[in-house]
Amino acid sequence: MRLKLSLNTATARKQWTLAQIIDGCARHDIRGISPWRDQVAQMTLSKAQKAIAANSLTVTGLCRGGFFTAPDWRDDNRRAIEEAATLGARCLVLVVGGLPSGSKDIEKSRSEVYEGIAEILPEARKAGVPLAIEPLHPMQAAERACINTLEQALDICEELDEADTSAQCALGVALDVYHVWWDPKLEAQVKRAGKRILAYHLCDWLVPTRDLFNDRGMMGDGVIDLPKIRRWVEGAGYAGFDEVEIFSELDWWKRDPDEVLETCKERHLRCT
Ligand code: ZN
Repeated sequence: MRLKLSLNTATARKQWTLAQIIDGCARHDIRGISPWRDQVAQMTLSKAQKAIAANSLTVTGLCRGGFFTAPDWRDDNRRAIEEAATLGARCLVLVVGGLPSGSKDIEKSRSEVYEGIAEILPEARKAGVPLAIEPLHPMQAAERACINTLEQALDICEELDEADTSAQCALGVALDVYHVWWDPKLEAQVKRAGKRILAYHLCDWLVPTRDLFNDRGMMGDGVIDLPKIRRWVEGAGYAGFDEVEIFSELDWWKRDPDEVLETCKERHLRCT
């Protein structure tokens, strides 16, 4: 029995507006969606919320909050929490931020991230929006996220949210195979994560990778042992959606989006 499929809207963002993506998910019977905030803003929050509700789609996450090393992080994260609450998102994904311009101090960035999450967590809790720290592959440590392993993310979760024993954690992780597949500690850390896994993101790692940000592969086209990681994730008790998230300037963003969605469905069944 496969977990249900969700589409991260980055996957078709070059071809379709959010309204078209919502419609596409409904037509292709993809029951979950995880939108990016710029696309929500373009459509307007209320229209996005109505269209998603009208099609009974589950919002498996809102991308993204975070960037705690940027000057406007407080206001931006407050807005992100409100938007996630309005959309009924199962979590707000945090891409935590890297080094501010001119900095060589990654430890400082990491402590700013820690303090930032500590500060917004009570607001997120009050709004009923779980926060999901997404560890990013170390190649993105400078520009996007200085939290790079599941272990680092879970250390923060356990320190800031230690008393939480509810079924739904206020602070957890978004586990993206693209970012964590290489980690020798992955199996043990997935087990440790347990109910803190709030989202599970799928794609594949292409060889060669031609672009550090926008050359993700479709499941089955790369080197990630997706069935193995799935066993670990399900073994840890995760029963949420599988979310396909593919940034692909050179391939999937150039294709007919209906073909992209059909391929996501087929590969989800066959390759993950
Ligand atoms: Zn992701």
